[in-house]
Amino acid sequence: CGIVGIVGSGATAAAVVEGLRRLEYRGYDSAGMVLASSSGFEVRRVARDTSSIAALSEWLEGQNPPRQLVAAIGHTRWATHGRPSEMNAHPHLDCSGHFAVVHNGIVENYKELKDELIALGHEFASETDTEVIVHLVEERFRLNGDAEASVQEAFSRLMGSMAVVVLDLREPNTLYMMRRMAPLVVGVDDSTLFVASDVPALLDSASSYFMVPEDTLTVGKVRSNIVTLSPELDELRVEWDVSRVE
Ligand code: GLU
Repeated sequence: CGIVGIVGSGATAAAVVEGLRRLEYRGYDSAGMVLASSSGFEVRRVARDTSSIAALSEWLEGQNPPRQLVAAIGHTRWATHGRPSEMNAHPHLDCSGHFAVVHNGIVENYKELKDELIALGHEFASETDTEVIVHLVEERFRLNGDAEASVQEAFSRLMGSMAVVVLDLREPNTLYMMRRMAPLVVGVDDSTLFVASDVPALLDSASSYFMVPEDTLTVGKVRSNIVTLSPELDELRVEWDVSRVE
């Protein structure tokens, strides 16, 4: 299972598919991606076992000439909660279609969170544990209108080991990233920000990459071709120098 996300000038669907291929060694049973441009977003999910990445790639070839993307995020899933199916493949969206999430790992307390969210009126489209994450974000956002605070609050409720990336489809230049006892690396190259569950996915693309800090919300933005990260890149560099490839 794997995550590959790209934001900024290097965001292409083809680069995401290539990254997913490089994570194939981690195993998967289905795949999906979200492509966000200034004029909207598209989601594609496929459940064709180990030909799912090829199916994504075929779908892309059948598309009109590629638009300029702001962000592209791909996921390969190894089902833990809910059978492998198109409906259960990631990304998952909230009810309003504003937030998208991809996730590797397990949300151990998903049942309790799901019951709570259903009682608040949320409708679930999949059988996954993952989908609670995006509804939690939506619920917090409804109350505070602040995407970063909402993601932070949602993350703080999750139990288990996991890597998570959330995209606010209204502001697709920003990635929200979190990992706990699971790998997630962030990479930077000029005007492009990358995130992936392992370094091989980024090898030719990012000039430097770092392990996302454990259990801390990391926010990456690309604005006017400038990448910013919080915690700052310098902090990541000091803390995670060992994972840096020159
Ligand atoms: N637990 C999640 C699911 O079943 C994510 C599985 C994965 O790591 O791919 O959808």
